[in-house]
Amino acid sequence: VTPFESRALLSRHRLRPTAGRLGILDLLASSGSPLSAAEVHEGLGDGRPDLATVYRNLERFAAASIVRPVRFEDGARRYEIAGGDHHHHLVCTTCGEIEDLASCRIEPFAEAALHRHGFQVASHSLEFYGTCRKCSISPH
Ligand SMILES: [Zn+2]
Ligand SMILES: [Zn+2]
Ligand SMILES: [Zn+2]
Repeated sequence: VTPFESRALLSRHRLRPTAGRLGILDLLASSGSPLSAAEVHEGLGDGRPDLATVYRNLERFAAASIVRPVRFEDGARRYEIAGGDHHHHLVCTTCGEIEDLASCRIEPFAEAALHRHGFQVASHSLEFYGTCRKCSISPH
């Protein structure tokens, strides 16, 4: 998301493109992995809005589907820019790095839920926990 796109995205959802909001979106766009409100707040640097404001804005973005919230095993809610392909995450429990896993092959399970349980699956979330390549090569 370029700054221009962030602006257009915000105005499309009737959110005023303040410097704080643009900063949050730019940070999420340039980060390769989902960030918590605290991490976004930390990353914003000088002149940043306070943590409560960052959190409130992230929730507004989530409500407008500009960002997607992802909940992880540690209970933390992290956010990533919405759009793009549906995907899952690889979470390294050693260094905390979170990577996107490109493809999703869950659909057969959703079909089984419908056929065997009459259950209409609307969405699912699945995160993998383990050790990233870096950490398995050089154990701490
Ligand atoms: Zn790691
Ligand atoms: Zn992701
Ligand atoms: Zn999936």
